[in-house]
Amino acid sequence: AETVLITQQSHEELRKVLDANKTSAPGQQRLVVISVSPQSRASLAARFQLNPTDTARKLTTFFKKLGAHYVFDTAFSRNFSLLESQREFVRRFRGQADSKQALPVLTSACPGWICYAEKTHGTLLIPHLSTARSPQQVMGSLVKDFFAQQQRLTPDKIYHVTVMPCYDKKLEASRPDFFSQEHQTRDVDCVITTGEVFKLLQEEGVLLSELEPTPLDGLCSSGSAQEPTSHQGGGSGGYLEHVFRHAAQELFGVHVTEVTYRPLRNKDFQEVTLEREGQVLLHFAMAYGFRNIQNLVQKLKRGRCPYHYVEVMACPAGCLNGGGQLKAPDTADKELLQHVERLYSMVRTEVPEDVPGVQELYKRWLQGEGSEQAGRLLHTSYHAVEKASSGLSIRW
Ligand code: SF4
Repeated sequence: AETVLITQQSHEELRKVLDANKTSAPGQQRLVVISVSPQSRASLAARFQLNPTDTARKLTTFFKKLGAHYVFDTAFSRNFSLLESQREFVRRFRGQADSKQALPVLTSACPGWICYAEKTHGTLLIPHLSTARSPQQVMGSLVKDFFAQQQRLTPDKIYHVTVMPCYDKKLEASRPDFFSQEHQTRDVDCVITTGEVFKLLQEEGVLLSELEPTPLDGLCSSGSAQEPTSHQGGGSGGYLEHVFRHAAQELFGVHVTEVTYRPLRNKDFQEVTLEREGQVLLHFAMAYGFRNIQNLVQKLKRGRCPYHYVEVMACPAGCLNGGGQLKAPDTADKELLQHVERLYSMVRTEVPEDVPGVQELYKRWLQGEGSEQAGRLLHTSYHAVEKASSGLSIRW
């Protein structure tokens, strides 16, 4: 199954769809939409010695020359992932959620971690997982639902490609939860890694730095992108910081200006607390890499996990260090990662609540915050993998 997945989701597959479009009758063509992650942009910027904004614009030119119709920034869909995560945490902290949804809340945007959680400790971990969809999968909803309606197309007439820093995002895109039975199409049809974009550039004989820039496309009238954006709080999406700031304000009326991390075992396991008169009000942590994840799981198993919220990522150092990112033959991994981190943080950051277009979409597309529509399109569920006598079987 994994071989099928890799061939279905590769840069060769994207090329096939683009080639088929060139020879098809106009009514038979598929609209090709490409959503680029901020992490991939930073990795390519390092390789081509560009700033991230130029990288995003030159990539847009490249994809459009190849035949793509629209190029979006995944930072836009991340606004919804962050807002939904914030609200979910406050609800669960106040005990307003289903009683089976326990604290700590564990982030779920990393498919490497989700795969591990479902396969190894499903019963223990699933109740803790945040149900908010990852930025990739919110983009899937935006493109195949909202944007398809705007374009007056059925979702299967759109071929949606994401550019991501890791291979596990291919697994995430192919989960049955993100497949429409009605339209026989996935929310994200094809995931290509940063490295595969580099291969495409090489195969086309294109030097990214030499292309003219083209502005990014915007998904809705007031959310027109033009320039790439990002969020505060590290290269894996900033979940901890956004949820922490929001919860401090919403639950305790505290306005947090700066989030201070305290290293625990190593730089990939750190914690953040909100305290008042010696009392810990909020206790958050980040756990990156499997060594730290296993440590976290042990704490949960023993009933000794002190955290309210944990940002969990499978890769040491997080998504900027994902397995699909570019390596530099002449630069040490650590040095390259620091350079990519610098480039990543050069982009203008936005507060999700204030991003043009986000509130409009909550109103027009989702019929309000907390609506049934928002639940269906911005959240998901997880499934324990049961050990069957003949081996592993997945219960969806
Ligand atoms: Fe992918 Fe690694 Fe990020 Fe997880 S932490 S989403 S495996 S790049």
